[in-house]
Amino acid sequence: MSRGRVSLLLLAVTLAALLIACAPTEKEAYKRQFFSLGTLIEISLWDVDDERAAKAVRRVEEIVNDAHQRWHAWEPSEITALNTAIAEGQSLTLSPATIAALRRARELAAASGQLFNPAIGRLIALWGFHSDEPPHGPPPTQAAIDALLAQAPDMDALWIEGLHAGSNNPAVQLDLGAFAKGYTVDLAIAALRELGIENAIVNAGGDLRAIGSHGKRPWSIGIRQPADHSEGGILASIETHGDEAVFTSGDYERFFYFEGRRYHHILDPRDGFPARQVISVTAIGADGATADAAVTGLFVAGPDHWQEVAQRMGITQVMMIDTDMRIYMTAEMARRVHFEIAPPAGVFIAGESPRETR
Ligand code: AMP
Ligand code: MG
Repeated sequence: MSRGRVSLLLLAVTLAALLIACAPTEKEAYKRQFFSLGTLIEISLWDVDDERAAKAVRRVEEIVNDAHQRWHAWEPSEITALNTAIAEGQSLTLSPATIAALRRARELAAASGQLFNPAIGRLIALWGFHSDEPPHGPPPTQAAIDALLAQAPDMDALWIEGLHAGSNNPAVQLDLGAFAKGYTVDLAIAALRELGIENAIVNAGGDLRAIGSHGKRPWSIGIRQPADHSEGGILASIETHGDEAVFTSGDYERFFYFEGRRYHHILDPRDGFPARQVISVTAIGADGATADAAVTGLFVAGPDHWQEVAQRMGITQVMMIDTDMRIYMTAEMARRVHFEIAPPAGVFIAGESPRETR
């Protein structure tokens, strides 16, 4: 048995022992799940009576389903209507909710230096990621990619005036896939707070925002080990304090193999190809929208440039895993992360010179 498996087994035994030890006194959080935004949404509430909890879950469900319908990248939505208008040189009147989301996405894109660039919807579609079916290739031709890159769609080319939006660049096509989950989780947390709920997690497929605590202990969040299959297990855990968003972008979420090469869904807007060198990025941020946009931007920035992008986006807690399984972290993140299995290829802490392997 490999060392990783032995550690996992030990972890499972320890966890089971802990669970048994806690069983007589430990109350469970109230949990409900549903599907939306293309993923499993889970709401955890602590210390809320069942009636209020059920009302809170209904409210979150409304918010998330509304976001799904309003901002879907390829099913008819306000975003697809805006994309059609832009392609035809027109502008469109949108709902206040969509205008607010677009303003926020535009700010975050600017902060990332357009590495998080939700105006590259056409490129994402060209790679075949605008489908409910698993992507399959073939990859687009270099000529098709070059033709799109030459038109340089980015969020600076999106204008917003009141409730109107449009672009002078007909190649701008919005896809909020790298940001909508985070933005929506923030809306859900705000709604929970309005209902007087102070201890909760809204988790969208592993990306989440947690407020308050689980009674006397903090919420504990698992970070998945990056892997093409669901056997990845838990790489590390983090305890959240107060109000924090924990988001991960991974190359294992959507990908295809074509003629022996692997192509994933996080695209580098500069060369039009899936970003190289990184397999996953996790960030802890103050809100979901920033953390979600940041992990995508940091993924594209890669091991050599992520620190600049993190700084510009105001993110101080980052963990990046490269294709050789090396782990890069900010010192602040290193203090928070508890590894559940031994990191396989070294850990590098930013700012510690020379880089230190622990
Ligand atoms: P995430 O998992 O948050 O990194 O989001 C990935 C999704 O965002 C992809 O499935 C695409 O729909 C979209 N996307 C891919 N590359 C980018 C990029 N560089 N900037 C913004 N959105 C992107
Ligand atoms: Mg993202």
